[in-house]
Amino acid sequence: MSDSPHYASQTLRRLLSLGLGLGLAMLLLAGCTLLAPPRPDPLAAYRPALSPAFSLPPVQMNAIPVYSITVRIDPPAQAYTGSLDLTLPVSNTPISQLYFRLYPNLRQLDGSLEVSNARLDGISVNYAYTTSHSAVHLSLPAPVVPGKIALIHLDFTGKFSRHSDQAYTLFGISEDVLSLANFYPILAPRRESQWVLDIPDPQGDIGFFDSAFYQVTVVAPVGQVLVSSGSATGARMAGPGLVTYHYVQGPGREFMLLLSPRWQVEEVNTYGTHVRSYFFPEDADAGRTALFDAASALQVYSDHFGPYPYREMSVVESPITFRGQEFPGLNLIGSQAYSTFLKDLENRVAHEVGHQWWYNQVGSDQIDAPWQDEGLTEFSTYFYYADRYGPPVGDSLRRSRWVTPVGLVAGTPRDMPIGRSVPEYNQGNYETMIYAKGALFFATLRDEMGPDAFDRFLRAYLQRYRWQIARPEDLQALASEVSGRDLTALFNQWLNGIQ
Ligand SMILES: [Zn+2]
Repeated sequence: MSDSPHYASQTLRRLLSLGLGLGLAMLLLAGCTLLAPPRPDPLAAYRPALSPAFSLPPVQMNAIPVYSITVRIDPPAQAYTGSLDLTLPVSNTPISQLYFRLYPNLRQLDGSLEVSNARLDGISVNYAYTTSHSAVHLSLPAPVVPGKIALIHLDFTGKFSRHSDQAYTLFGISEDVLSLANFYPILAPRRESQWVLDIPDPQGDIGFFDSAFYQVTVVAPVGQVLVSSGSATGARMAGPGLVTYHYVQGPGREFMLLLSPRWQVEEVNTYGTHVRSYFFPEDADAGRTALFDAASALQVYSDHFGPYPYREMSVVESPITFRGQEFPGLNLIGSQAYSTFLKDLENRVAHEVGHQWWYNQVGSDQIDAPWQDEGLTEFSTYFYYADRYGPPVGDSLRRSRWVTPVGLVAGTPRDMPIGRSVPEYNQGNYETMIYAKGALFFATLRDEMGPDAFDRFLRAYLQRYRWQIARPEDLQALASEVSGRDLTALFNQWLNGIQ
């Protein structure tokens, strides 16, 4: 049946009006697009330091504190002065007191850090040193309630020592490097809402920290190469012989700064990140090796775990003997690993780069549960060797670095479960238990779960706990969730020695 002329014209009118309506709607939509102001990027201030694909859920973004620090460094006087403004969003429970750690006052850092003024929202507050001067306590006149933001201002002064060459130095001058780990008052973390005020044992890491954004201004003498967490956003002369540098850092556990007149630098770009190696001129060959090892490690760990978050990552020849030490975006490697212990260089680099995932992105309690970041980071080097040189090389690493040393102490008093706090171990067994046995635990967990489930578990661990502090029970629950198996017996055996 053909349409009647009347019906056809009605349909045409409908179509025309629909078309007109659609056109108008599209025009309005286009107008809206044109007229609506572009949505501001909440991360704009930190974009210079972040990889282009980096994003953060707004809820998490709004919960992360921001440090704005200005510091003026006077190397000949072995001193610095500075100020700090912390923007601290308060969630969960009201805050009526605050603790900042002053780690340079610890014996192992051999310096000093004093606070000279403390204010909350512009009003002076009382402060007192505590915990052997390694913390300062601020009493707030009234609690800051959840949903509000506390604005804390501190002025500070610091001093650093000159150490002999070949001395392990994270704070002070040695081998023509000024290292300034933890040079500013840093907010103490909380463990189940209790402030963590441990005096750290020298054999473990100094502490653990909540993630924060950083904006840092440094005034330093000319003629120094500055290496820091984050990215430099500008530099200008600040007077005769002085330069002012500006840095921003996306979420990270702390802000590290080092200066030396001696470093040379080389760079490669990989996976959207500038990977740099800073080395002394006499160690140029080893410095280049470290550069390519670091770039390879970044690729391997990005493939297995998830993306590296920053635009820059550096490996830095430092006065820390033959050891390594991780900071956000920085992997410090002891200068002896560039010469006397050259055979250890690659392993040190592969290990420290692993901490850019397990310490910086996923935080953990490095005092009470050192196995959680050290064991997993050490185990991560298996992926580095297996992916770069083939699985047999990964298996041989497992035998030589973990199975053999752990086997040597089995059945002796040096053997302990891995789930204890740093001070419960001693110099005779700390590294074997936490690094070797810790890595062997993760290797065994992978055997139990199967490699695919284990990969899914690590990716989920990163995604769920990135920029947070994961507790041991969080890690265990996630491994069970991903594998669909009750892993209580395995965790109990390795962490607590319960057969
Ligand atoms: Zn480590």
